[in-house]
Amino acid sequence: MSILPPRVPEPSCDEVDLDPKDWDAFRALAHRALDQMIDGQQFVRDQPAWRPIPKSVEAALRTERPMKGQGAEAAYEDFLEWVWPYPTGNRHPRFWGWAGGAGTPLTLVAEMLSGGLNAMTGHFNDASSRVDRQVVDWMKDAFGFPAEVSGTLTSGGSVANLVGLTCARDQMAGYDVAEHGIGAEPGLLTVYASRETHSSVMKAVRMLGMGREALRWIAVDEQFRIDLRDLRDRLAADRAAGMRPVAIVGNAGTINTGAVDDLNALADHARSERLWLHVDGAFGAMAALSPELKDAVSGMERADSLAFDFHKWMNIPYEAGCVLIRDRAAHVHSFATDANYLQILTRGTGAWSEVAHERGLQLSRAFKALKVWLLIKEQGFETLGRIVTQNSRQARYFADRVDRSRKLRRVAPVGLNVVAFRYDPGNLDGERSDAINLELLMRIQESGLAIPSSTKLHGRFTIRICICNHRSRLEDFDVFTDALEETGDRIATELEQEKS
Ligand SMILES: *Cc1c(COP(=O)(O)O)cnc(C)c1O
Repeated sequence: MSILPPRVPEPSCDEVDLDPKDWDAFRALAHRALDQMIDGQQFVRDQPAWRPIPKSVEAALRTERPMKGQGAEAAYEDFLEWVWPYPTGNRHPRFWGWAGGAGTPLTLVAEMLSGGLNAMTGHFNDASSRVDRQVVDWMKDAFGFPAEVSGTLTSGGSVANLVGLTCARDQMAGYDVAEHGIGAEPGLLTVYASRETHSSVMKAVRMLGMGREALRWIAVDEQFRIDLRDLRDRLAADRAAGMRPVAIVGNAGTINTGAVDDLNALADHARSERLWLHVDGAFGAMAALSPELKDAVSGMERADSLAFDFHKWMNIPYEAGCVLIRDRAAHVHSFATDANYLQILTRGTGAWSEVAHERGLQLSRAFKALKVWLLIKEQGFETLGRIVTQNSRQARYFADRVDRSRKLRRVAPVGLNVVAFRYDPGNLDGERSDAINLELLMRIQESGLAIPSSTKLHGRFTIRICICNHRSRLEDFDVFTDALEETGDRIATELEQEKS
């Protein structure tokens, strides 16, 4: 039964709204903007990956608070002049910093479509809630989790880790933390993770009130994987000291080197020790989509919770992450509320029971699922898996070029899609080598040719790339290798001249 809407008059003289006065002019502007954004992807290869921001632009982006509007046209022109030319760089084929993904043309349109719907996803009886659930269900299947597993989309891996570890704490503390809070019973709650584990895990442990001390850093082997003997020893010692171990965190792709812990061993261990196994697969979980790589992350499907990102190795634009929680009741137990104003009804907009606010931090939630759903439908999991395979082959190709170079040295095994290396012609002491590599990294970034990022391995400044980029081609790694050698030599010579 639908009711015909009454006719509403045009706004009277003292009422305003935010719609355009001239819809035709707005339509023309919007089409122009869309073309601009598509050009930005089609011709991204012709552009530098990154440019420094000029002082004038810096100033233009710190103005007084505007009291009068300038209109859509003028605001858009300002965007074109001050924002558009200075991107992060991750759309570019030679962006390999951190674990950034490149985005795709259809997902750019998807951002517009979800903005157009302006859905508040996951709470109401609308199509966006179904799409949200569909995406989670597809990922369970893709990663070998059974259909009854729970899950939710998140802003990214950090929140996915937080949600997973919240459930771990609440289930494994041995008392009702959700009811009584941390410390209601004696014994520090502890979490075990390798030294190579991402900082967001520490942040989660701290936010969960368990304290920095609660995260027990476990040693790694020469492959940067968690040392199982050290794990066992720390667990035994902590138990003997009256602590309450709650979880082991396994890595499916560490940020520094792409290392994958022995997830099957961790799953066995977690089971025999009655601990929760949380796997951080922020980018590395996507290895499961590649027939060539999926064995590398074997055991991931046994996790009690798995965190991963779409905005990394699936090339979805920021933001989109996800967490799967094996025990559905545990998931809801940690996040459920009983707010009067969030009633689940039997009909109307409230007739949706799998509400997202009982599965994560957020109430208001964007329709992030749409871009993931559209990309998966457009490309299919086979092609998405091929990109993963392709990127890992590119990593091995680049590693081979580094290994054959007399100027560069690889400093870790190639993990999935990550290569860590240094400029090192063999005659540099530690301090000079760090200085040269730091300068090399910044110069390459400033040149706009490529965007690698940096870390520290064995206490030394290290350049690393993590290839989550569907636009990269093998030739890009040749160009990059040549630039590293030439620029490294130039810096070394300059430093030599400065000294003398
Ligand atoms: C990126 C990353 C995270 C954090 O994820 P965000 O999406 O940036 O919040 C956690 N763990 C690993 C291994 C990562 O690469």
